Formats: sequence, C-alpha cells, structure tokens
Amino acid sequence: MPTLMDGKAVSAKVRQSVLLETERLRENGIVVGIAVIIVGENPASQIYVRNKHRACESCGIESFSYELPEETTEQELLELIEKLNYDDRVDGILVQLPLPKQIDEKKIILAIRTDKDVDAFHPENVGRIVSGDYRFLPCTPAGVMTILDEYGIDPEGKHAVVIGRSNIVGKPQALLLLHKNATVTVCHSKTADLAEITRRADILVSAVGKAKFVKANMVKPGAVVVDVGMNRDEKGKLCGDVDFDEVAPIAGFITPVPGGVGPMTIATLMQNTLTAAKLHKCK
Ligand code: NAP
Repeated sequence: MPTLMDGKAVSAKVRQSVLLETERLRENGIVVGIAVIIVGENPASQIYVRNKHRACESCGIESFSYELPEETTEQELLELIEKLNYDDRVDGILVQLPLPKQIDEKKIILAIRTDKDVDAFHPENVGRIVSGDYRFLPCTPAGVMTILDEYGIDPEGKHAVVIGRSNIVGKPQALLLLHKNATVTVCHSKTADLAEITRRADILVSAVGKAKFVKANMVKPGAVVVDVGMNRDEKGKLCGDVDFDEVAPIAGFITPVPGGVGPMTIATLMQNTLTAAKLHKCK
C-alpha cells in the first residue's frame, strides 16, 4: 500500500509555526490581522469562511468578519475594500468567491491592495508567481508543494503532470512545480489521450472537479498522486478526483480526501497573512 500523505497533520505543523511567530510579534506589540468578507448565503462559502476564522484563531491571527447581504452592490463592496486597504489592523483582505452576479469579481480583485492580497489573485501577485519572485503564495498549489516537501518528494528532474488549468489551481501548480525543476505537462478538457500522458507522470496532481475521475489505468505504478478535487459522490459524500480505492494500491504516495490538500490551503493562507503583517509592521 502507498504512503498516505496526511495534509491534516502537515497543516497543523504549518499553523503551529505561524502561531509561534505571531506570538513572538505580539510580544513586541504587533498583532496580525485579516479581514474576511463574504457576500450572500452560499452554504459552501459559509463553511469555508467559518474554517478560515477557526484557523486564524489557532494561529493567533485576529480576524475581522464582514458578512454582507446577497443584494450588496459592487460599489458598496468596493467602498468596504477601500476602507480596509487603509485600516492598519488589517494585514490581509480575503473576499470569499464566488460573488453574486451583480458584482464583477475581476474589479474586486483589482481593488485589493497588492500587499494585502493574501489569496494572491491580483495580477501583480500572479505575475510574481510566474516569475518566481514570490510575495504571497497561491494557497492551494503552495499547500501541495508543502506536502511534497514534508514527505521528502523532490520534484527536480521528475515528470509532473497537472490535470486542470484553472487560474487558482492548475496554472499556478504547474508553475510551482516548474520552479522546483520538474518537467511539467498541463492537461485539460481538450487534451487528447489523457491516460497515455498521466501514465507517464512521476507526480500526478489532479484538479479537475469530477468525482473518481482518475482511475488506476491512468497512474504509473509507484507514482505520487495528489488529489486537489473536492467533490460529492453519488451518496453526497465528500470525495476527490481520484478513485482512491482503485488507485491507492498502485500509487507510491497518495493524498486522501478529506484530510489531504484541503487543510493545506488554509494553512498557506495563514502563512500569507503572516508575510503581509511582516511587510506592513516589521520594517
Ligand atoms: P475549474 O476551474 O472548474 O477547472 C477544472 C479544470 O479541469 C479545467 O482546466 C478543465 O479543463 C479541466 N477538466 C475538466 N474536465 C476535464 C477532463 N475530462 N479531462 C481533463 N481535464 C478536464 O476547477 P478548479 O477551481 O481548478 O478546482 C478543481 C477542483 O479542485 C474542484 O473539485 C475544486 O473544488 C477543488 N479545489 C480544492 C481546493 C482545496 O483547497 N482542496 C481549492 C480549490 C479547488 P478546461 O480548462 O479545458 O475547461
């Protein structure tokens, strides 16, 4: 059987190291803070936001919560962001996506001060990720890299295949692997003969969003399999992109869902918020 890569444990370790630093800063009168904005009543978003507040608490980060009604206008949200941009208590600003349809997400992302953009969605921070000159890390892909590192998996010289090319997962994941000297192939819905490509992966990262999409015949024996997917199976149970029961017996390393990449996303967000506080308050 493969080595199970325990994202929950790695995430706890990362959060503990953030806590140590926020406590040290607090001793010097510096409090790290994040504003978390949610618009509307999307149940999944509410769970994510609740988890983010809990994570902040466990990391010694003060979180300011803004729960806005579904009918909030774009102008109202922009005004709140402008206020938070100049609020010294707030090191990071996080706007939970998706937003209601009357609000243009791109405009909102552009309005967040780049040194408070802890999700790293602003084009300036995306550009920094492309060039390898990081300030903030892309949360989910960086969480994947932390797990690999924790389990002693060095991407250098390996063939890494990423399934998915979204701006928040697939593309930045490919870049982070490339920066670590992997040879990277990015696959998507128009890729011809996907299984033939994924079978050549030493490291396979799936970010597709389809339950049990990655089957045993798509995986090379001994490969490192990282499952970013968060889906519901036919019984409504949380599951990843990887058909775990089929793939686990042939993989070398594998992340479970839940308890794999999910907890790492929030851990990276905490690291980014700490980075932002240092930028603002430790000059
Ligand atoms: P997304 O924006 O929907 O992107 C999905 C990607 O999968 C697209 O690039 C799409 O290709 C590709 N794809 C779809 N069908 C495919 C097929 N049959 N063969 C090959 N590629 C295919 O999703 P996302 O935001 O990247 O999220 C992906 C998954 O990760 C979701 O389950 C999401 O819930 C999960 N997620 C988890 C975390 C976490 O913290 N664990 C964070 C973010 C996302 P095209 O570009 O050609 O359409």
